[in-house]
Amino acid sequence: MATLDYDYKFDVIIDKIRDLDAHNIILQFPEGLKSDAINVSNTLQKELPDVNIMIDADPCFGACDLADIKVNKHIDLVVHFAHTPLPIKTDCPVLFIEAHSNADVEAPISDAISKLDEEVKTIGLVTTTQHIHKLEEMIEYIENRGYTVKLDNGEGTSRGQVLGCNFTSIKNLDVDVIIYVGSGDFHALGVKLFTNKKVLLADPFIGKSRDIEEFTDKIIRIRFARITKAKEAKSFGIIMSSKKGQLRFDLALKLKKLIRDHGFEAQILNMDYVSPDLLLPYDLDAFVMTACPRIAIDDSAMYKKPVITPDELEIVLGLRQWEDYQMDEIIIHDEQT
Ligand code: SF4
Repeated sequence: MATLDYDYKFDVIIDKIRDLDAHNIILQFPEGLKSDAINVSNTLQKELPDVNIMIDADPCFGACDLADIKVNKHIDLVVHFAHTPLPIKTDCPVLFIEAHSNADVEAPISDAISKLDEEVKTIGLVTTTQHIHKLEEMIEYIENRGYTVKLDNGEGTSRGQVLGCNFTSIKNLDVDVIIYVGSGDFHALGVKLFTNKKVLLADPFIGKSRDIEEFTDKIIRIRFARITKAKEAKSFGIIMSSKKGQLRFDLALKLKKLIRDHGFEAQILNMDYVSPDLLLPYDLDAFVMTACPRIAIDDSAMYKKPVITPDELEIVLGLRQWEDYQMDEIIIHDEQT
């Protein structure tokens, strides 16, 4: 049996299963951890020989995409690995086992600090679930070097946390510069676009930092090209997700009306998993993504036709200026069903 690099917190899972007297369990892993699934299942099965343990083999990219809805009639517990919970009402109990990295956060922060101008006094700090358990260590490290650190609670995120689709924790920070601790360009890009401040990406996995300006310029140029192409479209597909944490039903209806009011054809396409192949049968000129905002940005090159965000559609229709460009977010305020 291969060794597991990630702490799967077997004791916590086993206690929960026993507490609930659960018989049917489904394990849900993000793509990066799926290769551990059989090993984890076997380890649990050894401790709990009478429990039915199953693995959800569908793609999973976030806590927005829980397995509870798919199998709820048969399942007593979903064990969801690597993501923090969103305020979403679930159809059966869900145990979240977050993925915390042990990578050193001080070296990349030190590198970022070495790149700061002398005038910098206040630093905004944000990170992802993977490193959030080291937040106090990060704050102390920066403050010990003479800076004031500012953090905020997001809507649906914890203090200092950003998700790929939720940057509310940094929007209102009045700071000179922002340090994002994490490895994803996309998160740092969101931080940059929402704050328009200097953003340094401090990557714990390589121990270095870099300014996100160049990457932001590259993405903006790509978005400009997609929007320009979408301006030629006469028909639009509005992609609506059936995943609970990505479903924006009202927005999809609103966009359909908006597009039709501008004299173009619009169809709503309800999808669970969004992929270029699944869009091929539809003779539409462009697509508007109301599902995960990352699809339009990260997977843009995979789609032959322009896939744009709702904010980008406003630019296409002349309702928003290019100068007011912003990334799309999915903010879940309250428990939603
Ligand atoms: S909607 Fe996309 S970015 Fe947001 S949590 Fe889900 S997978 Fe992540």
